[in-house]
Amino acid sequence: MKIGVLGIQGDVYEHYTAIRSLKNKYKVEAYIIRSPEEINEMDGIIIPGGESTTITRFLSRYINIINENVRNGMKIMGTCAGAIILSKDTGDPRVHGTGIMDIKIQRNAYGRQIDSFIDAVNIKNIGTFNAVFIRAPVIDDPGKTSVLGEYNGKPVIVENENAIAMTFHPELTGDLRVHEYFLRKVMGN
Ligand code: GLN
Repeated sequence: MKIGVLGIQGDVYEHYTAIRSLKNKYKVEAYIIRSPEEINEMDGIIIPGGESTTITRFLSRYINIINENVRNGMKIMGTCAGAIILSKDTGDPRVHGTGIMDIKIQRNAYGRQIDSFIDAVNIKNIGTFNAVFIRAPVIDDPGKTSVLGEYNGKPVIVENENAIAMTFHPELTGDLRVHEYFLRKVMGN
């Protein structure tokens, strides 16, 4: 199995390291995607957290290939800014949501950097997870996705057939259960 981390901006290396440390358990190879054609080789890709206005600016050369591969069964995971990119509505004209997930999201909904926090979230099929929220967005409407976890009554991790999105950063805790969940989705179970 091949998993690529979209190398535009954000905590690319943290996701890459997380997947690499699952190499033996899941027979997975981790890659950092630097050019669109590389996506054709992947079974799954991750769009990391970072700054969605910046990611948007460089996404146009990747988006057609991403959409085509998702239609052909490639799985995709988006964390924080990556979740914003997967949404269908960001409420911000500067940030184009790809619509891969039927979610409506609001950027920086908890406030500024200083309002970042860590708290326990109970995630379906995973359990209690210490979730790191950094200038996190809020999912205002999960649409047709299934909600795997909530915080303060709002969805923070959602899933559809092709994709998983979360508003927190599973790559920053050393707890790899969310990445493992994604790998099992890529494997088809
Ligand atoms: N606030 C950022 C944005 O809107 C997301 C923050 C993050 O990914 N940690 O792009």
